[in-house]
Formats: sequence, C-alpha cells, structure tokens
Amino acid sequence: MDIFDLVVVGAGPGGYVAAIRAAQNGLKVACVEKEAQLGGTCLRVGCIPSKALLEASELYKLARTNLGEFGVVSKEVSFDLAKMMSRKDSIVGGLTKGIEGLFRKHKITRFHGHGRLLGNGKVAVEGDSPTEIQARNILIATGSISAPLKGVKVDGTHVVTSTEALSFAEVPKQLILIGAGVIGLELGCVWSRLGAKVIVLEYLDRILPGIDAEIANEARKLFTKQGLEFRTGMRVTSAEFKDGRCVVTCDGQEPLEADKVLLGVGRIPCTSNLGLDAAGVKLDERGRVAVDAHFHTSAEGIYAIGDVIPGPMLAHKAEEEGVAAADIIAGKYGHVNYNAIPSVVYTDPEIAGVGKTEEQLKEAGIPYKKGSFPFMANGRARALGHTDGRVKILAHAETDRILGMHIFGPRAGDLIAEAATAIEFGASAEDIARTSHAHPTLAECIKEAALAVEGQQIHM
Ligand code: FAD
Ligand code: NAD
Repeated sequence: MDIFDLVVVGAGPGGYVAAIRAAQNGLKVACVEKEAQLGGTCLRVGCIPSKALLEASELYKLARTNLGEFGVVSKEVSFDLAKMMSRKDSIVGGLTKGIEGLFRKHKITRFHGHGRLLGNGKVAVEGDSPTEIQARNILIATGSISAPLKGVKVDGTHVVTSTEALSFAEVPKQLILIGAGVIGLELGCVWSRLGAKVIVLEYLDRILPGIDAEIANEARKLFTKQGLEFRTGMRVTSAEFKDGRCVVTCDGQEPLEADKVLLGVGRIPCTSNLGLDAAGVKLDERGRVAVDAHFHTSAEGIYAIGDVIPGPMLAHKAEEEGVAAADIIAGKYGHVNYNAIPSVVYTDPEIAGVGKTEEQLKEAGIPYKKGSFPFMANGRARALGHTDGRVKILAHAETDRILGMHIFGPRAGDLIAEAATAIEFGASAEDIARTSHAHPTLAECIKEAALAVEGQQIHM
C-alpha cells in the first residue's frame, strides 16, 4: 500500500488549494472527493454558478431598462434561460476541469468516493472502486451543506436550497426566500431581474446580519426600489408543497403562497459518516470540527480547514486556511489573519466589507472616527451610470489605523482588495489619503473617504 504524506478529504477551495500547496512543499499528496467534479460547493453549486447567473441577469436588466440613458437604443430585449444555464454550466465545467489539470501538474493522486476516517492514519474510500489509503497526515476539508429549518420540507423541486435555485428550468412567478442572508439576496436578485416576484422573509429586523448595519440599511432601501419585497421580523415556522402550491407560514401571520420557496438560513458543517469518532476527532458545541490555531484537531496528525471549522463560510477564507495548514504540515510557518478576510455580496451594486463593523467597534468600546464618500460625487461612477452607494472607513480615534472599510457601490468586491491590503499592512487612514489613486477611477472614493476621516475630502 502507498503511504501518502497527506490525504485531503474534500476538493473544495480549501481542500484542493491545500493539496496543491502541500505538493509544492514536496509532500506526496492524495485527495478524496465524493463528487465527480472537483472544486467543491464553490465551483459546482456556489460562488461560480451564482456569479454566472448574476452577470447574465444583470446584463438583461441593463439592456432592458438602462441602455437608453447611455444613448444606446435597443428594442425588444428578451432572454434565453436555457442559454444562460448552459453558459453557467460551461463556466463551471471549464473551471473544474482546470483543477483536474492542476492535480495532474502537481502529481496529486485523486480518489473518487466518499472518504471515511478509520483511525491510525487510514482513510476508506467508499464508492464504485472502494479502497483504503494510508497517510501520515489527514486534512478534513469536507465543507458545508445547506442548513435545514424545522417545519420546512425541502423537496428539491418546489421547496429548494440554493443548489436547485441555480438551475430552475423556468422563471418562477412568485418566489419566497426564507432568510435575507447572502444566498437569499444574491439568488433573489437573479430571479427578480428575470421577472419573478420575490418576497424575502427574514427573522431579524434587518437584512444581511454581519454586514455593517448602516450599509445594510442603505442596501435594503435600494433593493426594495429594485423590486425585492422584504418582510423582516418574520419567523418562518413551515413551508411545503401542497395541492400544487408552496405554502409558507410565519408566526402570527396569514400563510403565503408561491411557485417556489428557497431556504437560505445558513449552512452547517459536513461531518456525517466521516468516521470522526473512530479517528478521535472532536466537534465543538455547534457541530464544527474543533481546531487549534494551527488547524490541528483533537487527533494527532489530523487537521481541518474551511467551512467545516469555525469562522466565516467563505471560499477565500478556506483557501487561506488550506495554504496555512499545508505549510504547517510541511514543517513551515502558517497563519491566517482573520481580521483581513473581506466579504462581498454580489448584488447590484455590490456590498463589500473587511475588518470591524461600526457595531463591533461600539460593542468592544474601541474609540473610532469615520469618513465616508458617495459614488455620486465620483466622475467614473457617473460615467458608468452607477452612482448609488458610498465608501465608509472606520479608523482608530487615536492611532488613525484602519479598523474597517465598508463599501456599497459599483465594483465594491474588487475595490475592497485595497482595504484588505491596508489592514494587512497596518495602514492608517492618512496612508490611504496620501496615496495617489488614478483618475478617473472608482478607487478615488476610497482616497476621498480616507481624507473625510479628518473632514478633508476634496470633492464634497
Ligand atoms: P466545500 O467547497 O463545501 O467543499 C467540500 C468538498 O468536500 C465538497 O466537494 C464535498 O463533495 C466534499 N466532501 C464532503 N464530504 C466528503 C467525504 N466524506 N468524502 C469525500 N468528499 C467529501 N463564498 C465566497 O467566498 N464567495 C462567494 O461568492 C460565494 N458564493 C456562494 C454561493 C452559494 C450559492 C453558496 C452555497 C456558497 C457560496 N460561497 C461563497 C461559500 C463557499 O462556497 C464556501 O465557503 C466554500 O466552498 C467552502 O470551501 P470548503 O473547501 O471548505 O468546502
Ligand atoms: P446567512 O447566514 O448569510 O443568512 C441566513 C439568514 O436567515 C439570516 O439573516 C438569518 O437571520 C435568517 N433566518 C434564520 N432562521 C430564520 C427563520 N426561521 N425565518 C426567517 N429567517 C431566518 O446564510 P445563507 O444566506 O444561507 O448563506 C450561507 C453561507 O454561505 C454564508 O455563511 C455565506 O458566507 C456563504 N455565502 C457567501 C456568499 C458570498 O460570499 N458572496 C454567497 C452565498 C453564500
């Protein structure tokens, strides 16, 4: 039997990146993935297909409603949903094939099947070609699955999770989203732009928990104008397909009806039938694999990263952890700065943030000052026809160090990289204010917001 230095279970952004990095570190690596395609939730049924549909639906909306403003005349704009879906599938197919190529390049041995830990460094691969492999180290990177909600009967056709909502064969007339989180907002935008009446039911009194509240509030107003209907303070107690309709009930409310219901109330770690007990791997109180600062679990030689461990469930967070864990396993230094992990919601406009929110600073009693600058006052935003939103910077009241940056506006997801770099390098607001930003660019709003921290913005 071959003995591997490292066996990675799960080939999502955490697992496949860790496998590549470990191979680059000179380790003999295998990766066990139960799905035929590599790339995990993110590539198959998450980040990539959702962005392909967001882009297509946004272009349709632009062509239908906004091109006239640019002096571009377009008549009888329509869309072909099947073509949008096949474009999405081919993007996913191309990227997952790309990972197969990377595995070959780095001589990573791939096993197709369900991985189960047997203890003593052994992993069973269950499936069409069952086998057992032996490893000096094991990395659990099995990711997450959609969280169930009591009373909600997901049937995969009418009451669905994000996976099925990425492949509807036709546009639902009415779509009810349970949860105004990232999944609800992104997929709600896709189907609303294509013509669905979308109602979002949210338990809290706000949308997008975790995002800076001021920014989330502004976003809510704009998305309402765009056609999404938010009903906050709604605790969904049941949803099911009955007599040809989906019926959703909330505490103290009349039942609602729709063609489709999308459940998006979070995700839970994927740990079932993984053999964790046999291997001596302990979970925390929320069912996540417990790890120390070096991604080591309670069992010798077994590590874990990504959605299956605590922290934000984001692809790039999983990737950072994959690289750090692969370095640690190879005897090098590995570390993740969780304060500099950005998050992006790919609505129109996008919402992006990194570092602390204003609520977190208040709660921690950290003294701060803030500066903000609207895209309305930016030349490039005007030329693009995207003037909604603003950049908000939170800096330490005494040291001026950037503590958080939150952007609601065009290309916020790309702009936030500057903020992540600033936080990683311990930059101050003045550092950004003194840095030349090309004109005319959207990034000038970041410079202006940094100037605004001291009330010295030029263009407002
Ligand atoms: P996963 O990507 O979930 O990969 C785990 C892999 O392990 C899977 O392929 C699974 O099949 C495999 N596996 C599980 N158990 C076993 C087993 N026992 N044996 C073998 N294989 C196993 N994040 C972002 O950063 N940006 C986005 O835009 C974004 N959009 C998203 C959109 C949607 C609709 C969803 C659902 C998620 C989105 N996410 C996004 C979150 C992102 O997909 C996850 O954070 C990321 O995929 C986590 O990576 P991971 O490697 O930990 O796990
Ligand atoms: P989420 O945690 O973002 O939002 C879930 C929402 O459901 C919350 O607002 C919560 O208050 C609400 N909720 C919970 N119980 C409810 C109930 N009974 N009735 C009504 N509302 C209820 O979860 P999600 O949107 O499912 O996303 C899951 C994960 O996937 C997130 O952690 C996110 O990081 C990741 N994701 C990321 C991206 C991105 O980075 N662009 C996109 C999609 C998903």
